[in-house]
Amino acid sequence: MTRVRVGVVGAGVVGLSTAVCIAEALPFCSVTVLAEKFSPDTTSDGAAGILFANSFPDIPLERQRRWFKDSLDHLLSIAQSEQASEAGVLLTSGWQVFKEVPIEKKPFWSDLVIGFQLLTQDELGQLFPDHKFGQAFTTVKCECVPYLPWLEKRLRKAGGNMEQRKVRSLQELSHSYDVIVNCSGLGSKTLVGDDGMYPIRGQVLKMEAPWLKNFIRDGDGKTYIYPGIHSATVGGTRQEEDWRLEVDEGDREDMLARCIRLEPSLCKAKVLREWVGLRPGRKNPRVERDLVQLQGRQVPVVHNYGHGGSGVGIAWGTSMDALGLVKQCLHDMHLQAKL
Ligand SMILES: Cc1cc2nc3c(=O)[nH]c(=O)nc-3n(C[C@H](O)[C@H](O)[C@H](O)COP(=O)(O)OP(=O)(O)OC[C@H]3O[C@@H](n4cnc5c(N)ncnc54)[C@H](O)[C@@H]3O)c2cc1C
Repeated sequence: MTRVRVGVVGAGVVGLSTAVCIAEALPFCSVTVLAEKFSPDTTSDGAAGILFANSFPDIPLERQRRWFKDSLDHLLSIAQSEQASEAGVLLTSGWQVFKEVPIEKKPFWSDLVIGFQLLTQDELGQLFPDHKFGQAFTTVKCECVPYLPWLEKRLRKAGGNMEQRKVRSLQELSHSYDVIVNCSGLGSKTLVGDDGMYPIRGQVLKMEAPWLKNFIRDGDGKTYIYPGIHSATVGGTRQEEDWRLEVDEGDREDMLARCIRLEPSLCKAKVLREWVGLRPGRKNPRVERDLVQLQGRQVPVVHNYGHGGSGVGIAWGTSMDALGLVKQCLHDMHLQAKL
């Protein structure tokens, strides 16, 4: 039987998760990941990797919950297995705190993370006297520097391949692949001409602070301290439409001051590294079917991109959806072949 050739563009957390889902579920497909950059040079590599869901305005809440739950369940099972340290997936506990009481006291994901509780006024007064409201919970931290190579290994085991290559247009792939899956993140702005894509610049510090055991996140999403395996990710910025990849000294001073206010012991911590990444911003992630046309030939495409600041947190869930869409494409192709 001829194998169905599936080309996945992108080797960040979304592309590799999607490629693994397809290669493992559909062994009659040969899956190739095509990407300009692989780990450790993708945006995903610099993410703190905390599992935390943002909400998207036009995606039904049930679908967003499923994306988050599928991702959390997948990573929780890795965190509780002997694979945890190789994959870089661990459980982490901490607080999200707010300067003003938020409208939504219990977010839609509160019953999915572990042990979600609101802080009492006494606890707030003791821990975060400058804040008026707080939540405590345990979630997963998925560090992509080990996790992406772990996914690559899992993909190879399932028969998948990888090819370093910049793709200029999806049409370019239409003769070599039967189904194309687009997981090119911010690259989709030019690759498929998506004007809804924009960068959300994030600058962070990787700091040596082994005494810190709990994460602290300000509810505005701009100030956070996430202790990890080798360092704490301390940040940050959320600058929309800002394409600069260089470290900005003003941003560094500002974020350090904000973080030291939250956790004064950070002033003793050593800066190991600074990093800037561009989140693939979009009003809503695009997880849907499409077609590319070349000289009368139509090739099905499945898009899976635009995850903004929560790509690590929902990648496995959107990849399961993308797998479902690939199955639909194959079903339709099979029907067409019979006509
Ligand atoms: C500072 C910071 C902190 C973050 N923290 C978190 C966090 O704690 N939790 C969380 O869930 N998320 C976090 N994020 C967001 C997360 O990093 C992104 O949502 C996620 O990395 C998106 O993954 P992706 O695979 O879509 O994109 P990427 O990782 O950018 O991968 C895109 C891939 O597509 C390839 N590509 C693009 N165009 C082409 C082309 N034309 N041809 C070939 N290949 C192409 C690239 O080379 C790359 O391989 C953070 C982001 C930043 C910047």
